[in-house]
Amino acid sequence: MREFANFDTIMERLSLGHLWDFPGGVHPKQQKTLSNKTLIKSLSLPDFLYIPVKQHIGVEGKIVVSEGDIVLKGQALTASENPFAVPVHASSSGVVRFIKEHPAAHPSGLPELTIGIELDGKDEAVSTQGISQYAQVDKNDIISAICNAGICGLGGAGFPTHIKSNNVKPIDFLIINGIECEPYISADDRLMREHAWQIRQGIDILRHLVQPKQVIIAIEDNKPEAYETMSIACQQQSEYQVIRVPTKYPAGGEKQLIQVLTSREVPSDGLPLDIGCIMYNVGTCYAVADAIIEGKALTERVVTVTGEAINKPQNVWAKIGTPVSHLLECCEFDREKQQFPRIIMGGPMMGFTLTSAQIPVVKITNCILAPAENELPSVEDERACIRCSACADACPASLLPQQLFWYSKAKEYDVAQKYDLFDCIECGACAYVCPSEIPLVHYYRQAKSDIRQQQHEKEQAEKARIRFEARKVRLEREKHEREEKHRLAAEARNQTLKKDGGAAKDKIAAALARAKAKKAAKQQVSVSEDANEASKTEKTIVDAKEDTNIQETTTSAADEKKKRVAATIAKAKARKKAAALAQAAKEHNNGTSVEVDPKND
Ligand code: SF4
Ligand code: SF4
Repeated sequence: MREFANFDTIMERLSLGHLWDFPGGVHPKQQKTLSNKTLIKSLSLPDFLYIPVKQHIGVEGKIVVSEGDIVLKGQALTASENPFAVPVHASSSGVVRFIKEHPAAHPSGLPELTIGIELDGKDEAVSTQGISQYAQVDKNDIISAICNAGICGLGGAGFPTHIKSNNVKPIDFLIINGIECEPYISADDRLMREHAWQIRQGIDILRHLVQPKQVIIAIEDNKPEAYETMSIACQQQSEYQVIRVPTKYPAGGEKQLIQVLTSREVPSDGLPLDIGCIMYNVGTCYAVADAIIEGKALTERVVTVTGEAINKPQNVWAKIGTPVSHLLECCEFDREKQQFPRIIMGGPMMGFTLTSAQIPVVKITNCILAPAENELPSVEDERACIRCSACADACPASLLPQQLFWYSKAKEYDVAQKYDLFDCIECGACAYVCPSEIPLVHYYRQAKSDIRQQQHEKEQAEKARIRFEARKVRLEREKHEREEKHRLAAEARNQTLKKDGGAAKDKIAAALARAKAKKAAKQQVSVSEDANEASKTEKTIVDAKEDTNIQETTTSAADEKKKRVAATIAKAKARKKAAALAQAAKEHNNGTSVEVDPKND
């Protein structure tokens, strides 16, 4: 690592008002007065909030709400289950209407998992409790509170603040970044002017955590009012020094500002911590004070809404998740001033054009820029590179932007990386000076994104290969274990047989005999049951036959009786006829004639 200036040398130089410089840099038109003249304004509530579950560098937290849940302002929507997960919170009260993908506040515009909240207009908040005596509590509790409040770097990087504050390395300089070098943006300027005391409180908390030798608050010399208010707020702290930094873009870049203040250079693959420095944005300090002293989660931030297509350019308190369309409406965006719709999130140097006005404000959004026609160069104006090398002269990272452009455009990413593509801070200084108006940063971002995607796919493939290999090894091992188990069982049986001699064989034979006898007994029982059944059947047949005989006998007796009755009747009739004839003969003999009824015969 390169030698760097020691602490005392730096302090001596700073006390004389002398600073260092960084290579390159540009002086674009500031345009800050468009928006920095009025107080930060609170806006009306939007109807809907779109809160992306990941708004920082790291991993997303675990979602702890469901569709239909009623939520209050400050209520956590995700929980941090990983050191690199920073939770997100509801910025106002309402009902969770969806948890799905929504266009993201990112140059790619690709959708990201988002929690949609329909607001009830009441803006009810959860009750909060701060840690007023933070110096008396365990530092880990303060770091947890910062994490639970969902704070990440508000200057644009979005690095989790609790991770940065949990360092163990000795720190020479705690640097508070109030530079805000990008044209048009005045959010930090207004925050320092109006809330210097709360920023000071946040600095005190961070100082307590990282224990630096010196605190430096750096403000660009184009913000005299902010310099004044911060100087007053910090005057009682002897280790605090508020320093004016000459205006040059991008003096607010982390590496560039450290170089200006200390002459130390952050190594290409290193961190400011490696050279005894740590840096926070003024907005982050404000949020830290809110979290620790008030117990409030990060639910809103200052956003500059500006550009010549905005009738009322100003700074506003924007709730995280507010769609950009609401900000434009509140600040009177005039569509007539743009031939083609163009809304930029961020400034003209590092910002990106939005693909939808429904994209929300996130924790790192510092500006919404709506330029009028011809206010900014158009992407369509790109012409061929004339190899003028103006881009290299402007580069604050001492890169070769022209070569990076060629290799990025040709997708020769290996070569682009050899030209330190990932050292590019995407400041846009090269594109700003390019006479061919080539949107150089666009090519670098695309190249970085492709490389990250390739690396991700490679990592996934590698993980899949490792899983496959591990499974193969596991199956092999299990097979061997099974075979070994069988082998040991067989061996144990053989040994038992050998040990018991014939006894074991006899036991087996006896067992077989018992089984045979049992089987035979069963068969015997079955045969006798069959015989009983046959006998029962035979008896049934005999009984049936006897019944038939009785029936026949009864029938014959009845016939006999009928015959006897008939004979008796015949006899009676004969007797009656004979008596009638005898009577007739007697009457005839006495001269009386008698008619005999033939039917009575
Ligand atoms: S400034 Fe533009 S035209 Fe000139 S070398 Fe760089 S990319 Fe090419
Ligand atoms: S965008 Fe990258 S290459 Fe261009 S000037 Fe900035 S750091 Fe250099």
